[in-house]
Amino acid sequence: MSTLAYTDARDLGHYIAGQRVAASGERRQPVFNPATGAVARQLQLGTVEDVQAAVAAAQAAFPAWADTPPLRRARVMFKFLELLHAHRDTLAAMITAEHGKVFSDAQGEVARGIDVVEFACGIPQLLKGDYTEQVSNGIDNWTLRQPLGVVAGITPFNFPFMVPMWMAPVALACGNTFILKPSERDPSPSLLVAELLKEAGLPDGVFNVVQGDKTVVDALLHHPDVKALSFVGSTPIAQYIYQTGASQGKRVQALGGAKNHMVVMPDADIDQAVDALIGAAYGSAGERCMAISVAVLVGEAADRLMPKLAERARSLVIRNGMDPAAEMGPVVTREARERIENYIALGVAEGAELVVDGRGHQVAGHEGGFFTGGTLFDRVTPGMRIYREEIFGPVLACVRVPDFATAVDLVNAHEFGNGVACFTSDGNVAREFARRIQVGMVGINVPIPVPMAWHGFGGWKKSLFGDMHAYGEEGVRFYTKQKSVMQRWPASMAKGAEFMMPTHR
Ligand code: NAD
Repeated sequence: MSTLAYTDARDLGHYIAGQRVAASGERRQPVFNPATGAVARQLQLGTVEDVQAAVAAAQAAFPAWADTPPLRRARVMFKFLELLHAHRDTLAAMITAEHGKVFSDAQGEVARGIDVVEFACGIPQLLKGDYTEQVSNGIDNWTLRQPLGVVAGITPFNFPFMVPMWMAPVALACGNTFILKPSERDPSPSLLVAELLKEAGLPDGVFNVVQGDKTVVDALLHHPDVKALSFVGSTPIAQYIYQTGASQGKRVQALGGAKNHMVVMPDADIDQAVDALIGAAYGSAGERCMAISVAVLVGEAADRLMPKLAERARSLVIRNGMDPAAEMGPVVTREARERIENYIALGVAEGAELVVDGRGHQVAGHEGGFFTGGTLFDRVTPGMRIYREEIFGPVLACVRVPDFATAVDLVNAHEFGNGVACFTSDGNVAREFARRIQVGMVGINVPIPVPMAWHGFGGWKKSLFGDMHAYGEEGVRFYTKQKSVMQRWPASMAKGAEFMMPTHR
C-alpha cells in the first residue's frame, strides 16, 4: 500500500470513491510547519463540483453498506483499529508537523481517537433494538435504528485526527456513508485515515475526504443528499452551521468554542492544582477546546498559588514539538500568534495584572516558527474581554473570588459551558459543584475531563448547538433514526373492520 508515498505528497487533494483525486479548481492554500514557519505542502481547495462528486460516490455506496450486517461492519472497524495501532506514531508525527503540538501530546490525541474506534467495534450490541411481546392479543411492537444515508463531518485544526474519530467510526459502524471536510491547516491525517479504512476493507465511497474551506462547507450544507452534519469548531461557525443545516432539514450537531474555568478551593492541594493548571492551560499551547483558560482562585488559595504558578509558567520548555524535552510547541499559524498577542495587549489595556508575558518568545534555531510563550494574568475581572472571549492560546487568566458560591455564579454566568474543573479536598463541596454547575463536562480534581468513548462529549450553552453529544450512545442515536414496527399475523386478527385501538381489546 502506498500510504506514506501518498500522504507525504507535497500537494494534497481529496479522497473520493476509494482513491485520491485532484481538486477540480485551481485554488491552493499553503500548509505550514508551525515550528519552522516553512510551507510544507500545498492544499487543493475543493469546489462545489468536488462536493457533488463526493456526495454521489457516498450515495452510491450507501445501500450496500447500510445492508451489510452490523457484525461485518464491526469487523472492518476491528481491522481499522489494528492498522491504527500499527500507524499510531506516523499519525502522531503528522499531527506534530502540521499542528505543532508536542509529539507525546499528539500520541495522546491518537490514543483518544482510537478509543472511539474501539467503541464503534461494539456496534452490534449498540444497535440492538427494544422489543415488547404481546402489547395486545397477538400483537408485538419493537423499535430498531436505521442509518440516515450520507452524513458529513466538518472538523477543526486543533485535533486533526481525534475529532474526525469522534464522528466517522460511529457514523460508519451505524451503516452511513461519510464525507469528511478536515481543517485546511492540518489536512494530512485525514488522508491516511481514508487509506487505512480502505485497507481495512471499507468499500469504496463509504468514507470520502473533501479538502477545502467555506465553499465546500456551504455545498455540503445545501446538498439535499447530505442527511446530517457534525461540526466541531468555533462558536460563530457552529451557530451558522446549525442554523443553515437545520433550515435545510438536516440533522445537525455543532460543537463550538469554550472558556473553561478551574475553581481552586482553599482546601485543595495547591501543588497538585498548580501542576494541573500548567498542563491544562499551556499544554498544546492552549489550543484545546477543553484547555483551562480561567483559574478561579477562592479566598486565600490565590496568594498561595500565584507565586508557584508564575514560576512554572515562566520556566515552560517551549520548543519544536518533535524535541523530546518540549512541554509546549508553537501555535498553529502566524495569524493565530498575532491574535493571541493582541489579546495580551488588550488585557494590559483593560487593567489586568500581567504576571508572565509570553509575547515575542524566540526559540533558537526556529526563528521563523510561530512561537509565543506562556502568559499569565492575575486580577482579571468578568467585564474584561480577555475573560469573556475565547483566546485559544497559552494565556491563563486568574480571577480572585471570595467564596465558593461566587465561584459557581461566575462560571454559570459565562456564555460558554464546555468543560469545568473544581480542585478541593472536601467531598461535599465537590458534590455540590458537580450538581450546581451549568457546564456539560465536569472534572473533580481532574483538569481536562474529556469523557470516555462510551460516555459522549458535549458542552452546554454556546459550546454546543443541537441536542446530541458526540460519540457514545448519543453518537449512535445521532447517526440513526428510530423506527417502530407493530406486527400481528392473520390467525390472531379479528374478523371485520375495527373502530377501536387494537391494544384496547
Ligand atoms: P473554525 O471554526 O475556524 O473552523 C472549523 C471548521 O469550519 C474548519 O473545517 C473550517 O474550514 C470551517 N470553517 C471556517 N470558517 C468557515 C465559514 N465561514 N463557513 C463555513 N465553514 C467554515 O475553528 P478552528 O480554528 O479550526 O478550531 C478552533 C475552534 O474549535 C476553537 O473555537 C475551539 O474551541 C473549537 N473546538 C471545539 C471543540 C468542542 O468539542 N467544543 C473541540 C475542538 C475545537
